[in-house]
Amino acid sequence: MCATCGCGDDAGVRVTTVGAGQHSNDQPPHEHSHAHPHEPDPGRTVLLGQQILAKNDHLAEHNRAWLAARDLVAVNLMSAPGSGKTTLLERTIRDLHAELALAVIEGDQETLVDAERIEATGCPVVQINTGAGCHLDADMTARGLRALDPRPGSVVIVENVGNLVCPALFDLGETSRVVIMSTTEGPDKPIKYPQMFVGAHLILINKVDLLPYLDVTLEQITTSVRSVNPTAELIAVSATRGQGMAQWYRWLKELGALPQPS
Ligand code: MG
Repeated sequence: MCATCGCGDDAGVRVTTVGAGQHSNDQPPHEHSHAHPHEPDPGRTVLLGQQILAKNDHLAEHNRAWLAARDLVAVNLMSAPGSGKTTLLERTIRDLHAELALAVIEGDQETLVDAERIEATGCPVVQINTGAGCHLDADMTARGLRALDPRPGSVVIVENVGNLVCPALFDLGETSRVVIMSTTEGPDKPIKYPQMFVGAHLILINKVDLLPYLDVTLEQITTSVRSVNPTAELIAVSATRGQGMAQWYRWLKELGALPQPS
């Protein structure tokens, strides 16, 4: 896992506030060297992995308390790259901005591309670049939350790094976990990457508008999801065409009703 690939090393992480044409980093960017041991000791690797996760869980509890003290809830939004996370957020923010205070933390290895897309909607946003890292962790999230400084009562959506493996292991201190899978990924991803789907409270099946052009049915995808997670809420959506979005908005507003916007 992450102790093997070294992505638990946060030396290359950058947090950037995007807004009003100004980009400011909490630390200067620098080159990240990513050394891989050629013959890792399996025992040491397992121990290191346990230590990384225990430290992360501790920091995640701090984040949960930080959010609760500010009347905030947070969504950890996870998926494979290209499943439509940012597109879903752009439409959600534009449709809900009058009803729900939203703020976004974007996670990607490099670039401010997604943060700039969110900024264009008028929503407060911070970009976290993980460098070599393949997931966000609780420490990065804490730094992102401090930079974002969401207004009390907001729903903070954390768009994790696109990856169906490592993000599932790291609690960010979120209130709820949402996983998006798109119809174009085929029906087998839930059974190939079950950890991602097992822990989800809500699973969005995106790009349903493309189903007529694909050799997969919504029933096949649903059956696959249900085989690993029989209880999560399931909503079929098209973030580009709007199908199912009203149901997602209802879910999000119910989550946002936990705190009372001031
Ligand atoms: Mg994105």
